[in-house]
Amino acid sequence: MSKKIFIKTFGCQMNEYDSNRILDTVKKIGFIKTNKIKDANCYLLNTCHIRDKAKEKVYHEIGRVKKSFQFKKKPIVIVTGCVAQAENEEMLKREPYIDLVIGPQAYHKLNNKIEVYLDKQKKIDETEFDSVAKFNYLKKIKNSSIKVSSFLTIQEGCDKFCNFCVVPYTRGPEYSRPFKEIINEAKNLADNGVKEVILLGQNVNAYKDENYRLSNLILEIEKIPKILRIRYTTSHPKDMTDDLIEVYGMSKKLMPLVHLPVQSGSDKVLKLMNRKHVIKDYLKIYERLKKINSSIEFSSDFLIAYPGEDKNAFEATLNLIKKIKFINSFSFIFSPRPGTVASNLKLIERKVSLERLKLVQKELFNNQLEMNRFLKNKVINVLVENKMDKSIKFFGRSEYMTPVIFDSNYEDVGKIIKVKITNSNQNTLFGERVKKSNLRVA
Ligand code: SF4
Repeated sequence: MSKKIFIKTFGCQMNEYDSNRILDTVKKIGFIKTNKIKDANCYLLNTCHIRDKAKEKVYHEIGRVKKSFQFKKKPIVIVTGCVAQAENEEMLKREPYIDLVIGPQAYHKLNNKIEVYLDKQKKIDETEFDSVAKFNYLKKIKNSSIKVSSFLTIQEGCDKFCNFCVVPYTRGPEYSRPFKEIINEAKNLADNGVKEVILLGQNVNAYKDENYRLSNLILEIEKIPKILRIRYTTSHPKDMTDDLIEVYGMSKKLMPLVHLPVQSGSDKVLKLMNRKHVIKDYLKIYERLKKINSSIEFSSDFLIAYPGEDKNAFEATLNLIKKIKFINSFSFIFSPRPGTVASNLKLIERKVSLERLKLVQKELFNNQLEMNRFLKNKVINVLVENKMDKSIKFFGRSEYMTPVIFDSNYEDVGKIIKVKITNSNQNTLFGERVKKSNLRVA
């Protein structure tokens, strides 16, 4: 009987990358991927701890799986990711339907644990931090991502300990993968047809392997002819080193969108958050990058209504958004995560928090709308990713990551083409492919 695995992924890009690598791994013991949950004899839920009520979402999801298999033989149920790490054996006690709990730094043990489970039918909790062994194991397994745009994890974990964040506890200390190993993986991705590499890390710009930094990785990946675009996420202002800033003046493939989480525009709140950076330094980075290339734009993460954020502090955040004109940003109201320093702080009144979030999002959405409207009738470069489901249109992304929808053909997939923007809304640009003879419009 064929072994089929259904993988459901919650959360960030790192989890998406991990789910792909998990699939590459379990193929070695005979599993193939299925998109139909009812066909699966192994169900794997890769979880995220960042959003509200993460733990409860996992149990709800497992409840749904139970229902799907009410009248069938139960699949092996595996929970991986950050909730698995945070909850470990508690999960096995609370939900007997779960068979294996595997933390993010133990994926190299997954095949062995599945086989042991199949042999002994004994529940397993494996949540040791062992990043070195994990990546040593994974480097031997080919990354079979065949998407036009693919993630590539270069660093994991975090030593910053922002007071609101669970990452240092669920992903462990900072670990950077060896430089050569990453370059080999990038070459392998390019050979599979990948055209855009998004370098991933919880603190991606803290990357350090001997003397190699993120800037060296970018310049080395740039040399792979089939790779057309390079991005990285997520970074910390404290690690925006001179070499990384300068690489924006050297690289032709590094995209001009800098995702640099600031969280708040107020130094007082940044201190309360233990962010270890101040607004003056953030603005310096912004000014230096704009000087190098004025078309660089910024996106960011904002945590609104953090305990201690008074009216002035909130105004400072709004002013920063007005000044930098961030595009494509994320904003959330603070909600406490168990086990973090901020978990017991007195919350700001819900009504006030919601009002503040509304104001912040209004500014952010306006910036996006303005930027998109400005592009009307302009010709931009789009990397074509795929044909859209249930539509004759194609999907790609601008240099600033904005989704673009346009008429095209399969031959364009994986190429950078010129698209004339005819319309837009807050999140998406719509356009027409520009024929080579019409390129003068640009
Ligand atoms: S730097 Fe990022 S990942 Fe690290 S603790 Fe702060 S918010 Fe979390």
